[in-house]
Amino acid sequence: HAKQFGSNTLQFYRDSLQSSSRERLLLEAQLDKALVRGELEVFYQPKLNFAANRLQGAEALVRWRHPERGLVSPAQFIPLAEETGQIDAIGDFVLHQACAQARAWQQAGIAELRVAVNISMGQLRQGDFVERVGAVLVSTGLPAHLLELELTESQLSDDVEHLAKVFTRLRTLGVRLAIDDFGTGYSSLGYLKHLPVNVVKIDQTFIRSLDGSDHGGDAAITRAIIVMAHSLGLEVVAEGVEEPAQLEFLREHGCDEIQGYLISRPVEAATLASLLREQAAQRACAMSD
Ligand code: C2E
Ligand code: MG
Ligand code: MG
Ligand code: MG
Repeated sequence: HAKQFGSNTLQFYRDSLQSSSRERLLLEAQLDKALVRGELEVFYQPKLNFAANRLQGAEALVRWRHPERGLVSPAQFIPLAEETGQIDAIGDFVLHQACAQARAWQQAGIAELRVAVNISMGQLRQGDFVERVGAVLVSTGLPAHLLELELTESQLSDDVEHLAKVFTRLRTLGVRLAIDDFGTGYSSLGYLKHLPVNVVKIDQTFIRSLDGSDHGGDAAITRAIIVMAHSLGLEVVAEGVEEPAQLEFLREHGCDEIQGYLISRPVEAATLASLLREQAAQRACAMSD
């Protein structure tokens, strides 16, 4: 990921790997200020829906526009924020920002886009998480069905009973739920059986070698996940699609949506808006032909 964010980020990454507790304290203090100073920004990565043949959703991905270090990847500050508890404030910010943005696109007639927001386990453990989500929907005016929450499989706790209760209440609100990085945990099937989710996102590591040769069994696993998810009535999204051969494989095997650099990198809201306008114009053109 370092490449994507430039060379000073690479140095930053090395720093944070060897980070002394002093460095971590500094980063923690800077992160507090970042929120207040508006240095956190939400980027959006669109997803292509095969059946509709259009961009129907986008994932919100936070970035830190650091005054000296440039654009900093969430991989470098979300884990710290999870440890310090700062994830609650950051999570609230991203959720509100993403919902407000999706509502603005809807109101401007640009697109009826479904927005997906990553949620950390720490946020989910807040006693009032469901109420917070409800309040954001009310204050932004975004219809609940246009919000999807992504929970990373490896973060899901053993307390499936408690999780199932929270998930059920979120579903009652009308929001959609996705399991992120699916296939990387130890009890993928168990979660699907017990949690009321709508979507599984196949982890990028399985998509990487989808070129037909299937040396490591990734193609077989991907096919199996798609079949299993569909038989449970779930939608399937593939992450990290970079090559046309991967797109073709996923289309052939009935994957519902794809996300990855082949379609678009995560981009600023204004850039995604242009992409969406272009798409709308092309479709209008195609219809009048
Ligand atoms: P994720 O939710 O699994 O997001 C997908 C990551 O894969 C993103 O990295 C995205 O930029 C990257 N990606 C997308 N397409 C491709 C591709 O074709 N090739 C490759 N190599 N990578 C691709 P990013 O933006 O650095 O985010 C990393 C992780 O940080 C996310 O993984 C998510 O777990 C976490 N994260 C990001 N934003 C938030 C947030 O607002 N809240 C929380 N709690 N976590 C967040
Ligand atoms: Mg995600
Ligand atoms: Mg993922
Ligand atoms: Mg991830």
